[in-house]
Amino acid sequence: MTHTEHILSQLPGDSLSGLRRLDARWQDYKQGTVPTPKVVHQDDTHIASPDWDVAVCGGTLGIMIGCALAQRGWRVAVLERGVLKGREQEWNISRHELAALVQVGLLSAAELEAAIATDYGPARIQFGDGPGVWVEGVLNSGVDPVILLDCLKQRFLDAGGQVLEQTAVESLTVHRNGVAIATRQGDHTQTLTTRLVLDAMGHFSPIALQARQGTPPDAACLVVGTCARGYPENATGDLFVSFTPIQRQCQYFWEAFPAKDGRTTYLFTYVDLHPDRPSLESLFDDYFRLLPEYQGVELDSLTWKRALFGFFPCYRHSPLRSPWDRILPIGDSSGSQSPLSFGGFGNMIRHLDRLTQGIHSALDADLLSQAALARLQPYQPNLSVTWLFQKAMSVGVQQAIAPNQINELLAAVFQEMSQLGDPVLKPFLQDVVQFPALLQTLVRTGLFHPGTVINVVPQVGIPALLDWTRHYLNLGIYAALFQLGALWQSQIKTWPNPQRYYLSRLLDAWQYGSGQDYHLPPSSNPSDRP
Ligand SMILES: Cc1cc2nc3c(=O)[nH]c(=O)nc-3n(C[C@H](O)[C@H](O)[C@H](O)COP(=O)(O)OP(=O)(O)OC[C@H]3O[C@@H](n4cnc5c(N)ncnc54)[C@H](O)[C@@H]3O)c2cc1C
Repeated sequence: MTHTEHILSQLPGDSLSGLRRLDARWQDYKQGTVPTPKVVHQDDTHIASPDWDVAVCGGTLGIMIGCALAQRGWRVAVLERGVLKGREQEWNISRHELAALVQVGLLSAAELEAAIATDYGPARIQFGDGPGVWVEGVLNSGVDPVILLDCLKQRFLDAGGQVLEQTAVESLTVHRNGVAIATRQGDHTQTLTTRLVLDAMGHFSPIALQARQGTPPDAACLVVGTCARGYPENATGDLFVSFTPIQRQCQYFWEAFPAKDGRTTYLFTYVDLHPDRPSLESLFDDYFRLLPEYQGVELDSLTWKRALFGFFPCYRHSPLRSPWDRILPIGDSSGSQSPLSFGGFGNMIRHLDRLTQGIHSALDADLLSQAALARLQPYQPNLSVTWLFQKAMSVGVQQAIAPNQINELLAAVFQEMSQLGDPVLKPFLQDVVQFPALLQTLVRTGLFHPGTVINVVPQVGIPALLDWTRHYLNLGIYAALFQLGALWQSQIKTWPNPQRYYLSRLLDAWQYGSGQDYHLPPSSNPSDRP
């Protein structure tokens, strides 16, 4: 019996079977046998007046945006195939980012405080034998999803929303003036109608899979880990650490931090979809093999609380644009989270205000066509540039590169970023890429580590590099356009629709697409320091 079988079979919730079910899905992706669902249909007729303004399909992150819209007076239903309840494992984020929940009026300061289960000290970034870089205030607060979702659900109900639990979305028919959603609750089927559908059904949403029409993901991030007790006392965390060279054609990265039930540790790696890529179960075997060396503990001294695992398919063409009127993907189904961190919760918090305002305006002006909604999930150069970074952290199945090449590159890049300080390092670690920060990093890394940088060119390939250059230039153009456009912001607000709607979305795209929505927390800003 392997460590994976032995440990996971002891855990509550049948973790081993869950892992194997997910592995079967991962296998389908690697074999290219993922079926394309046919859940969305079109019908050129009208329906009677829709029951709802918004139907949110999927309640995990969906409840957040559903609540924000219900508070603005829209009639919102959340359809969740299970029970609307957060998972036990915390979501990590910073307090600074979480403040958005209070700012948009979803939670009171006291409610937010109650939902924050942990705060920990500085976190380390280190690769191979390179120097450690320590940061504060990044992913250092653990939010308890159970408490958060419970609170949001109550707020949502208070605002007049309706939660339909144990209700699975089975199919959708897009009519001219609304969408009819066929749902199943046990043996009962029911149809409800709505003006707008928000697809919040996650990475494997049937709506998103149909929209992508069988296009395979360009890459995936595999993650396995546990939360356990029995580690030596350690109030610090690891944000991004690697201590092994490339093995099994994978570069393994690690994350670790204090959690309310002990210490969470993850192993993750970026891979393409080659059939020879490891299964999640064999990655778990490597995790248990390497964990004692990583954390300085014997496996026998740990008490396992839960196993954590996932795989995140990632598509270069993200965010996903719905091909249909009246359907908008949000959360993981939209692919708008970073292909580096996959922090979908953090990503939703970052875009919550923008999405709420935008969806509110679209409903208000009845601009719910495919073209109008596409403006709410626009091209974001700062998301697209991160693709190359992911590629630079992975190695092809047949590719021969030096065992420590990825470690050396990352050590060099982060060393230079830390020299440039928090204004460069922190936004990057919080999934925000900005043109000036990236330019400074590239220049310094190129000047001080030219050999390391040159090695990356054959690793990622010229086509990927050219594609990246286009997005990088767009990042600069978007930054400049936002500066110009911001001068017109107050004027645009006085314009009639649809011009106001489209121009406001354009400004949003320039702002968020160039990372100018990000503001450094006051204590991190050198000019604010005494
Ligand atoms: C191990 C691990 C650790 C993570 N840690 C972090 C972190 O620290 N910070 C962070 O920001 N992010 C983290 N994430 C990512 C985060 O959990 C996801 O981004 C987030 O859960 C995405 O939410 P979602 O609502 O878009 O999709 P999902 O979480 O996939 O939820 C989809 C919802 O839709 C429902 N649903 C699916 N199909 C149907 C249907 N047919 N009808 C009705 N309902 C349906 C599901 O029941 C589910 O409730 C982590 C992920 C994993 C796997």
